[in-house]
Amino acid sequence: MNSNLQIAKIKKSIIKHIDAERPVLRELAMKIHSNPEQGLSEYKASGWLTEYLERSGFVIERGICGMPTAFRAVYGKGKPAIGLLAEYDALPGIGHACGHNLIGTIAVGAGVAAKAAVELFGGTVVVIGTPGEEVVGGKIPMAKKGAFSGLDAAILVHPEVEELATSNALACQNLTIEFFGKAAHASANAEKGINALEAMILAYNAINALRQHIRPTARIHGIITDGGQAANVVPDHSAAFFMVRAADDAYLDELQPRVINCFQGAAEATGARLEYKWDELRYSAMKMNHTLAQIYAENLAITGRVAFVPKAGPGSGSTDMGNVSQVVPAIHPMIAIAPRTISIHSKEFANAAASDAGFDGMSDGSKAVALTVTDLLANPELLVRIRDEFLRSP
Ligand SMILES: [Zn+2]
Ligand SMILES: [Zn+2]
Repeated sequence: MNSNLQIAKIKKSIIKHIDAERPVLRELAMKIHSNPEQGLSEYKASGWLTEYLERSGFVIERGICGMPTAFRAVYGKGKPAIGLLAEYDALPGIGHACGHNLIGTIAVGAGVAAKAAVELFGGTVVVIGTPGEEVVGGKIPMAKKGAFSGLDAAILVHPEVEELATSNALACQNLTIEFFGKAAHASANAEKGINALEAMILAYNAINALRQHIRPTARIHGIITDGGQAANVVPDHSAAFFMVRAADDAYLDELQPRVINCFQGAAEATGARLEYKWDELRYSAMKMNHTLAQIYAENLAITGRVAFVPKAGPGSGSTDMGNVSQVVPAIHPMIAIAPRTISIHSKEFANAAASDAGFDGMSDGSKAVALTVTDLLANPELLVRIRDEFLRSP
């Protein structure tokens, strides 16, 4: 049994270490911010993050799961193994407007700081670089390939405008739709045409009709990406992109054929031919772990921040961290780096990700994670409780 005194002492030294490392982590976050790289092309960012970890004694494996910018960095050996997940991809055109430069530096900063806990209590800290969150949901194939399977817990801290100890997320699958009709003069020979746009409009309205009779937590939303080329030609092609979300995978399974029926009905009505394709990747809902979230919230409180611990329930958006949470107990805390009036994925948020408030969030987030790792390694019974909740949760 590790004494509370011993734990308190090591926590104090971790906080001191992160305060001393702040300029180095700040420079790292700034470099990634000023060199935004999109999903799966984050060569510089993954290079800088792994360099920092390697310099600090981590054993690095680059290009895991067949992704050149994914990595695994290990310190210590054996169980328990705690995973700290890093993201570092930027958005097209708007750079680090989701603040992933800070997610990367929070993970590596916490990993290096948690070395002291590994040395004292044993176990392993694993920093896992997960590319392409924004565009390809990089953690989805990584979870399928077992990248997170050996872990006892996984933590990813995301910058936001509010303080949360973890986040809910909806299951989500994308759908691409095409209708094929027959072109004809839209006035002179309309009777010879088959209108692919009419098929799409009918289907769009059928989705609206369906929406009234599904669970209010489910979401179906889409855009029409091709509605024809000229007003005097009957459109022989139309296309759309839809996203279908639900509070759990089972309801998403149930919803999918009902959504397709809307498109099939429109094909029948108009005579247009339907082609559709569900995206191969499915975002899973977030499996909540309140035990782990509570430990994070208590450690974050040491930095003076108060995190809300959300109840189980449907989320609003979707994240590939949901897929991680299905294979290992996981939390996805949000750390506030900007006022509530601004939104992520905005120019203002990109600025916040390179501001003093952003670096305060980075530093406090790193501390909360490293202190959480300390508790988990020092008190194995916490991991038993976390595992129990994982097995009980839907
Ligand atoms: Zn984002
Ligand atoms: Zn993000």
